[in-house]
Amino acid sequence: MKINMSHGSGGKASAELMKDIFGKYFSNEVLNKMEDAAVLELSGRIAYSTDSFVVTPVIFKGGDIGKLCVCGTVNDLLMMGAEPKYITAGFILEEGLEISELDQIVASMAKTAKEAGVQIVAGDTKVVEGKGGLYINTSGIGIIPKGRNISAANCREGDLVLLSGNLGDHHACILSARMGIENNIKSDCACLNSIVKSLFDNGIAVKTMRDVTRGGLGTVLNEIAEASQCSIEIREEALPVNPEVKGFCDILGLDPLYMGNEGKMITVVSSADAERALKLIKDTPHGKDAAIIAKVSAGKGVMMKTRLGGSRIVDVLYGEGLPRIC
Ligand code: MG
Repeated sequence: MKINMSHGSGGKASAELMKDIFGKYFSNEVLNKMEDAAVLELSGRIAYSTDSFVVTPVIFKGGDIGKLCVCGTVNDLLMMGAEPKYITAGFILEEGLEISELDQIVASMAKTAKEAGVQIVAGDTKVVEGKGGLYINTSGIGIIPKGRNISAANCREGDLVLLSGNLGDHHACILSARMGIENNIKSDCACLNSIVKSLFDNGIAVKTMRDVTRGGLGTVLNEIAEASQCSIEIREEALPVNPEVKGFCDILGLDPLYMGNEGKMITVVSSADAERALKLIKDTPHGKDAAIIAKVSAGKGVMMKTRLGGSRIVDVLYGEGLPRIC
């Protein structure tokens, strides 16, 4: 069965869709009240983030748009040092979408939210004319524990930059699917709670964290260098890339440095904390390929020491290499 305009009418078909799909997976005490807005008890400093997800295909190796939207929002909250608490979800469904596909995606969202410790407390669904597409906007709220100050502006000369794992997996996975290329590349789509929790629980003085999403590592490091008014020097030989992704990039002329990821983050710490932080990250489920990849120095911009001993400027990504990867 497919979604049709009556599912967005607010009438009986809408009510059935709510009950049979969203109600089945998202049930919780806040949502079940079915009031006009979720009423939440919160106190302290709050991190609040929103993002829209338009990836195609909506189901891919290693995840789907449902898992992706929860991970994306949870990770953005985590990167500010917040403990993610609540999520809202707005769905735009195009006529013709298979209801079985929607069911799978909503189930995946609920499972991911549960694993990440967040509740989905408000939502909305609209149906529009189209070709069976599906878009999701999620917003999330997290609470920042007292004394935590994580910012892109906190880096200082001598600090080290840790990357939590291989570059480019999500981007290469989506591109493979879009081009009909058969391979084993899976999206890295994941919530990064375990890494962040381990760093804070073990007293690492984290200065900056950022998830390495659209625009890739090159763009993210430029944003940090700019915010902190410093220079960042990457060691090319330290960059972790899965050999299959590397091969895929070589054939297509892509640079993993600018490819999007959905389960990778960078952490900046003082050099004194770096080795211990690396070990902690490596011991988590999504951090086994972590590496110290760069150091912060005086100056401006991002540089890369190449394998051959040369040095080149790493600029921000200009334009989008591939639309709709997230
Ligand atoms: Mg982010």
